[in-house]
This record gives sequence, structure tokens and C-alpha cells, in this order.
Amino acid sequence: MQILIAKRAGFCFGVRRAIDITFDIPQEDREGVCTLGPIIHNPQVIRRLKDEGIEPIEADELDSRKVKTLIIRTHGIPCQLYDTISSRGFRIIDATCPFVKKAQDYARLLAENGYQVVILGDRHHPEVKGLVSYAGPDAVVVDGDSPLEGLKPKVGVVVQTTQPIEALKKLLSEIIANTREVKVYNTICSSTALRLKETEEMARNVDVMVVVGGKNSANTTQLAKLCEALGVRTHHIETAGEIEDAWFAAAGKVGITAGASTPDWIIFEVEKRIKDIGGISPDGKY
Ligand code: SF4
Repeated sequence: MQILIAKRAGFCFGVRRAIDITFDIPQEDREGVCTLGPIIHNPQVIRRLKDEGIEPIEADELDSRKVKTLIIRTHGIPCQLYDTISSRGFRIIDATCPFVKKAQDYARLLAENGYQVVILGDRHHPEVKGLVSYAGPDAVVVDGDSPLEGLKPKVGVVVQTTQPIEALKKLLSEIIANTREVKVYNTICSSTALRLKETEEMARNVDVMVVVGGKNSANTTQLAKLCEALGVRTHHIETAGEIEDAWFAAAGKVGITAGASTPDWIIFEVEKRIKDIGGISPDGKY
């Protein structure tokens, strides 16, 4: 049984940057350091950070916990919350992904220039909640199925970084039919699109796909759904401990991919576990 590992499996640029920023805080400076919400959607990484003395905290816990430093996660936070925590004197380490920051800047720019901002994305996702805060009072969130109603004559579009390009194309065709002027910032991150493309190619070429990442990670779930839709036997796992030998019965090839918030050490453990069941590299060297 050959094991193929996706080249883009695991941390994207923004997540690696946030994790490096967090782990690089010297031990002696970690007293009272918290992440504002989980730094990434991966329970194993959050547990490891807790072991290192860095806990996630929610905004409504700030009064009941001894906090000195707050780390802002890759998804960013609403600007009002940023203003609140700065005015309260917390030290802020901003690990918002620069691509998310750019989307926030575009949302603000559009609102300042009189555009009604339409945000394509999951309204419950922290990144979108952050974008809304920059997008002015008449901003609208469109999550794919919601109908577009009552658009103003000038509309500006920004996109949650992990949305598929097809969703943006569909939205734009609807907006064009419903307004007079449209300005679009395509803020989709190429990392997500390339990971999906690579996963699709791999899934078409193997008997079993193992998708590694947090069950609460939207982009990992998106990878698993893509594989399932292609009809390949798919298993979405968080750790190697979940793997069952029977999954690979009569399989000639198994593909491993992972979401943007999955650390390398978990991918290595998954690869090792599948090797122990009888997997080999494509060139047969291990
Ligand atoms: S997927 Fe892209 S936008 Fe999102 S954190 Fe990673 S690099 Fe940044």
C-alpha cells in the first residue's frame, strides 16, 4: 500500500506565523499571557500551548482572570474589541494573518468611500465577525444561500479568505444584476485554493483518503467533504490514535492531507501509524 502525502498538508503561512509568534515568547515572560480565543482550530495544539502556560481566554473572561498579555489569533478580532483591550492597558501581540488584515483594510476603505460592503463568508466565523466590524453600518454578510436584497447603488465586495472562488463568481453575477456600481477585492487566500486543488487531484488517484485536522476546523472539514464528494473512502481524524487497520483493507494507495491548522508532528504520527499497518512510500524506499 503506497502512502502519498500532500505537499501542502499542514500549517499555512498565517498559522505558522501565529504559532511561531506564540511559542517564541520566552518562558520568563509567559506569566499572564493568553490567546484571545483559541489561537487556531486544533485542539492538540491548544493543549500543548496550555502545557506551556499559554491559555485561551474569551473576551468576557477578562475581568475574572489574571491577564497581562493578549495574543490576537490568525482570524483577527472586531475593531471595537481591539480598541477596548488597548484602552484597558493589556499588552497586545497581534498575530492576525497579514492576508486577513488586508481584507479588513479593504472593508474599511470601501465603507469610507461610500460603498455598501458585501462580505462573502460564514457569518458565525470569527474572521467574518472581524470583517463586519470594519465594514460600516450597512454591511451585509452573504453565506452562499442567503438571498441578496435591497442593495445600494454602490457595492463593494470582500471575501472571507477561505471561501472557494466559485462562490465569489456566483455572488458577483447576482450583485451585477442588482446594483449599478461594483468594486471587488478578491481577498481569497491562494493557500486554501491550492490545498483544495492538490487534495482533489490526490483523492482522484487513491483508494483511501485520510484528512487530518481539528473537527472544529472549517478548512479541514472542507477538505474531507471534497474527498467524500469525489466518492473516495474518506476518514477525517484529529490524531493517529483514531486510525483503524480495517480502513485500509485491499487499498493500493492511501492519500494523506491536512488542514491549515494541523501541525507537522500530528501528520508525521499519522504517516507512521499507516506505515506500521503496511504502508510504503511511492518509491518503496521506506
Ligand atoms: S489560510 Fe491564508 S489567510 Fe488564512 S491564515 Fe492561512 S495564510 Fe492567512
